[in-house]
Amino acid sequence: MPLVSMRQLLDEAAKGGYGVGAFNVNDMEQIQAIMGAAQETNSPVIIQASRGARAFAQDRYLFHLILAASELYPDIPIAMHQDHGNSFETCKSAIELGYTSVMMDGSLKEDGKTPSSFEENVAVTKQVVDYAHERGVTVEGEIGVLGGVEDGHGAGGSGLEHITDPDQAVEFAERTGVDALAIAIGTSHGAYKFTKRPDGSVLKMDVLIAIHKRLPSTHLVMHGSSSVPKDLQDIVNEYGGKLKETWGVPVEEIQLGIRNGVRKVNVDTDNRLAITGAIRKVLWTQPEKFDPRDYMKPAREAMQKVVSQRMTQFGQAGHAHDYSPISIETIAKGYKDGSLATRPLVAAK
Ligand SMILES: [Zn+2]
Repeated sequence: MPLVSMRQLLDEAAKGGYGVGAFNVNDMEQIQAIMGAAQETNSPVIIQASRGARAFAQDRYLFHLILAASELYPDIPIAMHQDHGNSFETCKSAIELGYTSVMMDGSLKEDGKTPSSFEENVAVTKQVVDYAHERGVTVEGEIGVLGGVEDGHGAGGSGLEHITDPDQAVEFAERTGVDALAIAIGTSHGAYKFTKRPDGSVLKMDVLIAIHKRLPSTHLVMHGSSSVPKDLQDIVNEYGGKLKETWGVPVEEIQLGIRNGVRKVNVDTDNRLAITGAIRKVLWTQPEKFDPRDYMKPAREAMQKVVSQRMTQFGQAGHAHDYSPISIETIAKGYKDGSLATRPLVAAK
């Protein structure tokens, strides 16, 4: 199956009332883990690469690894997504390479650190939307600023400094025509999201619900949504790791989000923890080992297990064969003739 439009994948998720995990990749084993999980659970998938991943793996390697996944699993819809594009140029280069979806994170300036103004965000996002939609490519925008830093990207902070304002979310969606909208509700990138199990004072699910009420047909995206489970932290620490105690976003909160318009859920840290724990365990308990396959194989299996769990918890499991892919060219026509409306349906306050 050719790579599919993320818009189609999210529209189907909205119809089916489920969420789709978007998992980050940097190497072959992570792609294999995701595809293994997708096959095991019969799930459509979003594979995403950050700027850091593209630099680490090199664009051509990464792109061809994902193409290999689409050849090996012809029945599974795969959308390939640029995570946190920092500029029009980054998004354009991903589109030229063949990505079927891009995130223009205009909530930060091009340095990927400094919060931008609302008008700057609208302008650069709209520029990406115009370019991408002409080519049938999906666009995710971001309004509000997430906490933390990952891969050198992020404003830092706790995530509570720039919670999304629902009125601004409406205006942003209307003026840019984005297909999906990432919002800031107190989550952060990385492992250290919360210092205790989060409650409504730090994880603003009420804001998410308010935005969904105003924008009932806009696909919402939750970033920084690893759950950082204790058992994965424990494995890392049991075999010589030094993680500080930390809490992520509980799966039940993500499920509440999914019942309120969340269609894309970004997960990276949980997979990183699973991989690191598995590698540490082999190196710690069997120090005589030196063949990378001896630890990469358990690492891949550990990530596959986490991804399978999330696919099941988010509800995408069982939905890989609900639909046939629409070609990117047809999607481009849909944007042009208005049949794929991107002017959001806005409800009164
Ligand atoms: Zn993110």
